[in-house]
Amino acid sequence: MPNYAPVKVVKFGGSSLADAEHFKKVASIIKADPSRRYVIPSAPGKRFSDDNKVTDMLYECYDCVINDRDYSEVLGKIKDRYNLIIRGLELDLSLDKEFAAIESVLSNRVSCDYVASRGEYLNGLILAAYLGFDFIDAADVIFFGADGALDSEKTNTIMGERLSRHDCAVIPGFYGRACDGSTKTFSRGGSDITGSIVARAAEADLYENWTDVSGVMMVDPRIVKNPKIISVITYSELRELAYMGATVLHEDAIFPVRLTGIPINIKNTNCPEDEGTMIVLQAPKDETHSGITGIAGKKGFSVINIVKDMMNSEVGFGRKVLSILEKYKISFEHIPSGIDSMGIIVSTAALAPVRERIINAISCEIVPDCISIEDNIALVAVVGRGMVKSVGIAARVFKAICSAGINVNMIDQGSTENNIIIGICADDLENTIKAIYYEFTE
Ligand code: ASP
Repeated sequence: MPNYAPVKVVKFGGSSLADAEHFKKVASIIKADPSRRYVIPSAPGKRFSDDNKVTDMLYECYDCVINDRDYSEVLGKIKDRYNLIIRGLELDLSLDKEFAAIESVLSNRVSCDYVASRGEYLNGLILAAYLGFDFIDAADVIFFGADGALDSEKTNTIMGERLSRHDCAVIPGFYGRACDGSTKTFSRGGSDITGSIVARAAEADLYENWTDVSGVMMVDPRIVKNPKIISVITYSELRELAYMGATVLHEDAIFPVRLTGIPINIKNTNCPEDEGTMIVLQAPKDETHSGITGIAGKKGFSVINIVKDMMNSEVGFGRKVLSILEKYKISFEHIPSGIDSMGIIVSTAALAPVRERIINAISCEIVPDCISIEDNIALVAVVGRGMVKSVGIAARVFKAICSAGINVNMIDQGSTENNIIIGICADDLENTIKAIYYEFTE
């Protein structure tokens, strides 16, 4: 077997494989570099803004079956999507057998996950035929355990062994095999995870994740027009931003590659010459880095404010409060506190069904001087590896917020010192992000 070095694993998102023209772009990207040996396709995404994603249509088919509605029209549209791609690529390929299998599963109402997974499966068959690559069914190489979570070690061993027998292969994203033998999908956007799993098993030098933007943006482009692209970001910085709503990669996609430090390169299928964003374990020293890598924010938080004299010296106070939250299955985001006061920031939606019960429980068990809940809070995360031990970053962040006339409700900095979390009124979210972004980019 010829040994190409280095090995790259390449994953293409749904918008990169939405139609035959995109398949052609994808093929020319793969063929341009012989180290691009293992390819993970998503299902066809939207071709234009009002279009449907094939995965959504597959879920709709299943929904029709469950609700005793006719699914044939939706399934017909899915068939048309694939046949249009096959014709556009001038392939001698028929998916009739595969569609007959899908119909039989649908009529037996067997498995929603199986039906949803067919978007990737069928796209994988087409892409393998077009590229002349082998096809590996993800159900034969990705395994979930009895708890429903990925069985990463079994997967890594079997996937690694299987890949070693193929010079080049297409492995559809998004699904694998559950321990009862059925097909099981990851959560939405899960093809990113498949790519990461394959990269680890192939001991790849690089995992390229191809999408329709030229990398991770410093801020949400709906807030700042054409924001800067981040050229290098660490896995942990990306996790911080993703947690606060930045959507580039499925948040679980980091874990398999992080284990072995394989970098991820986010690239744009429509502008392949753009460098994109490198996601790495440790970023090289860069004198030009402003100290801040990205800014993200989310609305929908509430603060439970508890005031009690001498709280600070009461041993076990925090534990008692947190065990009440635990009892009601509420996880907290941050706990800014003073000598006689404690604020607990939680998701408003999660709190809603147990709000009164939590207030009552805290009132009875803790007997605070005062307890209240403040809603309509947004959190902004200013993330940057350059913050560690560097002087003046926080000053610039808060000067920018102050100049924009925005009041800060809460400040928190993680112990790893690569983020500053700021609580503000939800109405100020966009202006806060803009103010910080311009302070560090202009
Ligand atoms: N097709 C699936 C979805 O739409 C998985 C993916 O694209 O990653 O969520």
